[in-house]
Amino acid sequence: QVSDTLAKEGPSSPSYDWFQTDSLVTIVIYTKQKDINLDSIIVDHQDNSFRAETIIKDYSYIIHVGLSHEVEEDFSVRVVENVGKIDIVLKKKETTSWKRLGHPLENHNSLIPRRDTGLYYRKCQLISKEGVTHDTKLFCLMLPPSAHLQVPIGQHVYLKLTITGTEIVKPYTPVSDFLLSEFKEPVLLNNKYIYFLIKIYPDGLFTPELDHLQIGDSVSVSIPEGNFKISQFQELEDLFLLAAGTGFTPMVKILNYALTNIPSLRKVKLMFFNKTEDDIIWRSQLEKLAFKDKRFDVEFVLSAPTSEWNGKRGHISPALLSEFLKRSLDKSKVLICICGPTPFTEQGIRLLHELNFSKDEIHSFTA
Ligand code: FAD
Ligand code: NAD
Repeated sequence: QVSDTLAKEGPSSPSYDWFQTDSLVTIVIYTKQKDINLDSIIVDHQDNSFRAETIIKDYSYIIHVGLSHEVEEDFSVRVVENVGKIDIVLKKKETTSWKRLGHPLENHNSLIPRRDTGLYYRKCQLISKEGVTHDTKLFCLMLPPSAHLQVPIGQHVYLKLTITGTEIVKPYTPVSDFLLSEFKEPVLLNNKYIYFLIKIYPDGLFTPELDHLQIGDSVSVSIPEGNFKISQFQELEDLFLLAAGTGFTPMVKILNYALTNIPSLRKVKLMFFNKTEDDIIWRSQLEKLAFKDKRFDVEFVLSAPTSEWNGKRGHISPALLSEFLKRSLDKSKVLICICGPTPFTEQGIRLLHELNFSKDEIHSFTA
């Protein structure tokens, strides 16, 4: 066994160690935190460069080395949650004994505030692209085998393309491949695929280029970002979701998670604002879910409906909200999630405060 633990300064002082057998090299990260899971660790290795970024609250602990010997492309990651230990097991290409793990690269063995780490990207392959509405498509990207990255619920990533020599970066929120998928096969979830619902703006900068990609082309994907915390669901009884247009995207995983994992939940209601019926993403899936799960209701509100539309009309308003946001019990614990165009979200938050919902009861999704 060889070891080169380097203790680090800092509040949580994470550290790492490594050991080997004839065929394997295991890198162990001691986070000294209890709330660590597979979402907390992002691993990339390309050629001989190995990088592991562990998210610890608002900090990243980075292991970044040029490996001293070659390893296979795939590896495994294991998290021992109650002690906050992460094992990354690499397979040696040759059964030689390593004298050292490798040489340090940028930020190796350092704990850095997340805002200072910069976004690290890996290239993903476009696997499929499928029309959902007249202007919105479901894109499936595949992570390289040499990467481990899971996007936590309520978080987004940045996609990057080089357009006429300039790198363009825009944020997008991963979804599941369809609304009910995580109910059906929770165990078979393949974390190599990341799905996005993306609206193509014909005169937009980024989305037409994304739309022009061929299957097999690559897009760079950043590490996840965002301040939604799953602990906001704790003991939750009523969940209200206010979504406008593609502001529906963070609601997809939230819906899935809440209906499957929160036993205290009595009611989940989605109010979905769109311009026309044709703009509604996954309308029939939402209606099916409402039929299947009595806790869930969906209401569509259109700002530019045809004369045949019998449902609700207009923009977000005090009248619409006060009727919609009824607690299932007098003092039930509520969370309201809101996402859409900035004026929609800002107006919504203002109206929610006027209706006496507290800051803790509201989560808004913004950049
Ligand atoms: P842009 O070039 O930004 O243009 C968009 C539209 O605005 C076009 O119609 C354009 O003509 C018009 N426009 C541009 N500039 C102006 C201006 N100055 N005045 C008036 N109009 C203008 N989108 C999704 O589809 N799916 C998602 O999951 C998703 N997640 C997001 C997550 C976050 C955290 C945020 C902040 C945004 C998210 N978005 C999402 C939006 C996404 O990031 C892009 O803004 C969107 O795709 C448009 O990019 P674009 O470059 O193609 O268009
Ligand atoms: P859209 O133009 O089709 O509008 C959808 C609905 O939003 C409208 O029917 C209307 O009810 C409401 N709306 C639009 N403009 C409004 C205004 N000025 N005031 C009040 N309500 C208004 O929407 P879209 O093109 O699908 O755009 C979706 C927006 O959501 C984008 O701006 C995108 O950046 C944002 N988004 C943000 C996140 C996030 O922050 N996490 C995630 C996804 C999407």
